[in-house]
Amino acid sequence: LLGQMMDRPLSIIALLQYAARCHATTEIVSRNCEGTIHRYGYGDAYARVQKLAHALVSLGVTPGDRVATLAWNNHRHFELYFAISGMGAVCHTINPRLAADQMAYILNHAEDKVLFVDPTFVPLVARLAGQLPRLQAVVVMTDRAHMPEAPAGFETLCYEELIEGQPQSYDWPELDERTASSLCYTSGTTGKPKGVMYSHRSTVLHAMAAGAAEGVGISGRECVLPVVPLFHVNAWGIPYACAMFGAKLVMPGPRLDGEGLHEMFEAEKVTITAGVPTVWLNLINYLRQSGKRLDMLKQLIIGGSAAPLAMIRTFEEEFGVPVAHAWGMTEMSPIGTVGTLKLADEGKPADERWLLKTSQGRMICMVDMKIVDPMGNRLPHDGKAFGELLVAGPWITSGYYENAEANAAAFDDDGWFRTGDVATIDPDGYMRIVDRAKDVIKSGGEWISSIDLENAVMGHPKVAEAAVIGVTHPKWDERPLLIVVPKPGETPTKDEILSWLSSRVAKLWLPDDMVLVDELPHSGTGKVLKAQLRQAFRDYALP
Ligand code: ADP
Repeated sequence: LLGQMMDRPLSIIALLQYAARCHATTEIVSRNCEGTIHRYGYGDAYARVQKLAHALVSLGVTPGDRVATLAWNNHRHFELYFAISGMGAVCHTINPRLAADQMAYILNHAEDKVLFVDPTFVPLVARLAGQLPRLQAVVVMTDRAHMPEAPAGFETLCYEELIEGQPQSYDWPELDERTASSLCYTSGTTGKPKGVMYSHRSTVLHAMAAGAAEGVGISGRECVLPVVPLFHVNAWGIPYACAMFGAKLVMPGPRLDGEGLHEMFEAEKVTITAGVPTVWLNLINYLRQSGKRLDMLKQLIIGGSAAPLAMIRTFEEEFGVPVAHAWGMTEMSPIGTVGTLKLADEGKPADERWLLKTSQGRMICMVDMKIVDPMGNRLPHDGKAFGELLVAGPWITSGYYENAEANAAAFDDDGWFRTGDVATIDPDGYMRIVDRAKDVIKSGGEWISSIDLENAVMGHPKVAEAAVIGVTHPKWDERPLLIVVPKPGETPTKDEILSWLSSRVAKLWLPDDMVLVDELPHSGTGKVLKAQLRQAFRDYALP
């Protein structure tokens, strides 16, 4: 017996249509590349999105085509999200921090037809001349007055000229909800970048879960500033969720430094923000130097890499900002867990509470998780057993875009996606990443978590950043080597750090040696490049 409810397809444009209808004057505020602040309401944004859809048609874009963007968080990028997907094409966001050859690879693999680019990134495009046979046009996201010199070898257009004079209403097609809507490539810390093709259905369901109270907690009473870029996993779904829940949306453009962010937080009265640990480290430094506060913030989300306890405590204790740790992946749209505590856990003794706060958060409904041993047998969710983490759900990829080779290894026999993370899950659904499978240090029979060591070291007052890698050892197979970036003017000694660690981790886990460096290599999305460190210290002789 079937239910008798309407079977209306989930669609991305419907989110913006709702916002335009019911939150027409709720603002979208963004800092442009020119440094000016642009503001308008969802109503005006929707009018421009309709013009943009007409402009896309005029460029020859048809449903199913891939349209690339290379841009910061700003209102034009927001418009592209909705116009491209709404007309049935695919919005392919590209990370501008990628190396030129990776960028060319991605643009060619996706067969992008048109590329929209912020003026700042035009020089990046110029480097790709002659390498993108399928690309038909480059559109610079600005007005005529601010057009930079056109990159040689490309037909170059101006965004504002393109949409000017276009009709203000567009007849959106009714799309099957499984229609491809956007595309994002993983940053490729290992091997070639792999494409994840999202659908209207996955995007809308993810936005609903991401925005809900058990997710990020977005509503019409909030003002949300995603520091996480629109070019990285759809800014964790925030632009869609803001439209869905009618929240004010603030986008910081190219200014991601502490001062630039703080300015926007204050001026726009931001209540919710989200970003990776490196960004928050800069903000903390700025707040301390300037004596500024963060009084309006009600929720600060840290994700993308493990949030060290010291960072969570600093925000909560020094600045009074509640922090939630979140975990996810490009392949998961990205949200899998969010670390808001259960009521009962809020009342626990401080050390237990902090322990839960440093977990990656709780499973959210519709993301199924299992941990398995090397034979693929399920392990108990007792908070102790750890194994490879696999996930399944409606906003998790079922296969990389045009990449049979990567797909062969990415799923188990039941079709669950292998995250490559090693984790524990407790009976309340709190998940804790022990390590990336490839970063865990295999010392004798014991697995040592590089993340736990790094987090402990980063609590030391003389340490700015730390990484731990496994180095070959004749007896133990691998032993941990600690690599430390000291705070300016500090020179921590090995003895000092090891004695700090000895009360915090098992004796067997203590790193065999420590090296000081000026900086650590980071990926385009702010993760420490462990593979590069392992290469650099491959022949390191442990004492
Ligand atoms: P990529 O896969 O291209 O590196 P993602 O942003 O998709 O880029 O990275 C996903 C991985 O990042 C996860 O599998 C996990 O290892 C790591 N990660 C994300 N969030 C967290 C977190 N809160 N704590 C620890 N690791 C995290």
